[in-house]
Formats: sequence, C-alpha cells, structure tokens
Amino acid sequence: MSEKFECIVVGAGPAGIACAYELAKAGVKVLLLERGEYPGSKNVMGGVLYRQMMEDVIPEFYKEAPLERPIVEQRFMMMDKESALTFGYKGMEWGQEPYNNFTVLRAKFDQWFAQKAVDQGALLVNETVVLECIVEDGHVVGVRTDRPDGDLYADVVILADGVNSLLAKSLGFHREFRPDEVALATMEIIKLDRKIIEDRFNLEQDQGCTIELFGDATKGILGTGFLYTNKDTLSIGVGTLLSGLIKHKIKPYELLEYVKHHPMIRPYLQGGEPQEYLAHLIPEGGYYSMPKVVGDGVLVVGDAAQLVNAIHREGSNMAMTSGRLAAETVVKAKEEGDYSERVLDHYRKRLMDSFVGQDLKKYKDATHHFDRFPQYFDQYIPMMNRAASQMFTVDGSSKKEKQRKIWNEIGPVKEKLKIARDLYRAWKVMK
Ligand SMILES: Cc1cc2nc3c(=O)[nH]c(=O)nc-3n(C[C@H](O)[C@H](O)[C@H](O)COP(=O)(O)OP(=O)(O)OC[C@H]3O[C@@H](n4cnc5c(N)ncnc54)[C@H](O)[C@@H]3O)c2cc1C
Repeated sequence: MSEKFECIVVGAGPAGIACAYELAKAGVKVLLLERGEYPGSKNVMGGVLYRQMMEDVIPEFYKEAPLERPIVEQRFMMMDKESALTFGYKGMEWGQEPYNNFTVLRAKFDQWFAQKAVDQGALLVNETVVLECIVEDGHVVGVRTDRPDGDLYADVVILADGVNSLLAKSLGFHREFRPDEVALATMEIIKLDRKIIEDRFNLEQDQGCTIELFGDATKGILGTGFLYTNKDTLSIGVGTLLSGLIKHKIKPYELLEYVKHHPMIRPYLQGGEPQEYLAHLIPEGGYYSMPKVVGDGVLVVGDAAQLVNAIHREGSNMAMTSGRLAAETVVKAKEEGDYSERVLDHYRKRLMDSFVGQDLKKYKDATHHFDRFPQYFDQYIPMMNRAASQMFTVDGSSKKEKQRKIWNEIGPVKEKLKIARDLYRAWKVMK
C-alpha cells in the first residue's frame, strides 16, 4: 500500500481514539489501526470513566454515549477476614449535569467513541496488528503491519498500543518493566436484575455506586479490589502488583474467587450470573517508570506511556488527555511542517504541566513505598478493624476502658513508635 497518511495512530483505546478524533476534527488525514475485531474487544477497565476529560474531547457526550450509571456514591472498604471498616461520600450533585463520572462497559463505549472519530473523518482499520515502526535515518516514517500489503507511511506515528508497548520498547523508549511496576487485574461482569442492584446498593433509579476494596480483598498484598454498579450487571475485580503475586505464590483468578466469596462482598453478588471474565495488566510504576514519550516522528500516549494514577484508579482520563495533547501537538507540527523531536517535544511539556504530569509527580514514591512496607495492608487494616469492633461492641465496659485496651493491644512503645513513623512516611508520600 503506497498511500501516505499525515498521521497513523496505533491502538483504538481511549488514548488512540481521543487522538484520532481531535486530529480528524482538525482536518488531519489520520489512520487509526486496531488489532482487535472492533475497538473495545480487547480492552479491560473496572469501569469508571471521568466526565471532564471526556468532555474536553466531546462536549456533552453523556447525552448520547452508551454509559451505564452516573456515580453518586464512592465507598471505601478496609477489609479484614470477617469485617470491614467502611467510609465514603454520597452526593446528589453527582447524579445530575454536569456529573462527576460514570461506569461504562468498554466493549460498548470504545465502539461508540471510535465511531465518533470515524464520523469526524478518521479512517479506522480493525484486525490489523502493527508489528514494528518503520525507521529511516532515526526518524519514524511509518508502521509495518501483519497485512500482506502491510507497510504504511505517515508524517508522524502515535503509539497508543497500551500497557507494555512493544512498539515503544523496540524504539528503545523503555526497558522491560519489572514485576513491581505492573499490576495484573482480573475481573468478572455479573448479571443481576436492575432493581436488585438499586436495592442492594441503596440507589435511586439509574444511579451508580463504586466500592473500592483494600486489605483482605487482596489477602493483604499491595493492591485493590473494586465492585462497581452497571445498569444490569456488576463489575467485580481485584488487582495486585505482579511482584506481590509472585512473592505470595497466588494465582490471580484465586484472588478473584476469594474476594467474590468474602463475607463482606458475597451478599452483593448473590443470585448473579457471571457473564464475562477479563484480565489485563495495569501500568503502576508511575512517574519513575514513564518511558521516553517523544522521538523524531513519533509520540507515545496513554498506558503505553505508563500514564496511570494507581492511588486514584485513574487511567482512562489520563489516556484521553494525553491523546488530545498529542493531537494538538501534531496539528502544530503540521503548521510548522516539522515533525522532529524538537517540535513534538511540545507534547511532553504540556503533558507534564497538565494534571497528568502533576499527579504522577505527586505520587511518584507512593506505590514503591507501600510495596516496600506491606504492614499498611496486612497489619494496620486488621488492627483498625479490631479497634472498631471493640469500640462499637456494647458489653458493659466503659469507653475509657475500651480505649485503654485498644491502646495496649497495639503493643509496647516500640511498636507504637513504629506505627507513628509509618503514618508519617505514608503522609509524606501522599501529600
Ligand atoms: C481491571 C482494570 C480496571 C481499571 N479500572 C479503571 C477505572 O475504573 N477507571 C480508569 O480511568 N481506568 C481504569 N483502568 C485503566 C484503564 O483501563 C487504562 O488506563 C486505559 O484503558 C488506557 O487506555 P489506552 O488507550 O492507553 O490503552 P488500551 O485501552 O489498553 O488500548 C490500547 C489498544 O491498542 C491495541 N493494540 C495494542 N497493540 C497493538 C498493535 N501492535 N497493533 C494494533 N493495535 C494494538 C489494543 O488492542 C487496544 O485496543 C483499569 C484497568 C484495568 C485492567
């Protein structure tokens, strides 16, 4: 195929689609390549889509996009084996325009989003695997695909091929990621009657709730679980760093089964029918794991650039923002007629100045800290649960007596000082 494009985007996830949409809207001749049967067929997400970053691409998308439920409540469960300390926030302002975020099913949402890019003029080609970038004199000039007439040329190539981008790696933009930089998440979508979901989660019609699970949800390994409400399904999942799974010799699906049968979770799922099982990697290395994101004729966006805020389970929003910023940079490069790294570096600067770069920087030491000191998850959460149980059990002893007992059970002064030091350290890496 000798046709030349102005831009080729590899990967039709939120990063690639947002990028192709913006480029097509600006009149750039753009080709969007996806290895899956259709956009969304290979993509996995717990399901929280952030309204603001999506609206930065398509204003008022929520009036027509296939969304599940607007989230009005976010709960957090600190779980022990047979208990959970729960807190959260519910706000009715989130149930109406302009909304905060929504649950989505990616197989539906990505298809719709990609069609919007096509409507703008992007050319989408599915079932096409990009095998490598074509490089001439150190400048990326196109991609080699698995199709018979597979070489395609462009002024600039956007790598939006997701976590563990083999294409960015082959350009020498990143090394092999370590097991403590990548999480493996497994999830199930469970069919359940709409009305039962609303009753169980204390929701008005069509409203949604998210529950993030910590502690025993991952058997105390650094990671989280989640339980999200969709229209007539629930998304339940659990993810931990690969290093944690290796160290504890636990298989990911065993962890998912464990959390599904946990006494704090089981009642929510009762009577539900598993509909789909999914597994995917999540880049969780954060700031220090970010690869080089710009080269001559090439930009890297989304998960391929490791843009995930694991502390706040944000990834799709960072993907879309990076895709949009990359598109704006390509438009600038087109105006200047120069696709060199010097001009394209504008993308990196804008990315690092945006909430994406700032949030990654803010939490740059968090994952590694909690990975190094597992006591937060396997000791302190059970300790908090025991304290809550004692404090809230009415057994005739005075509250002062209870406080004293809880205090003594923490252990000797040395142990208390260690906890105080850990709390200070946690505050430092999160502040
Ligand atoms: C279990 C789980 C729960 C999550 N929960 C949330 C959440 O609640 N909220 C949130 O914001 N984020 C969440 N995330 C993270 C979020 O899913 C990602 O950050 C987001 O999907 C990244 O988008 P992307 O476009 O960069 O990559 P992807 O969505 O991974 O898209 C990459 C695309 O590239 C295609 N591709 C790859 N290689 C090639 C190739 N060589 N040729 C052609 N095509 C290729 C793939 O098929 C895929 O379609 C979660 C992730 C997981 C795994």
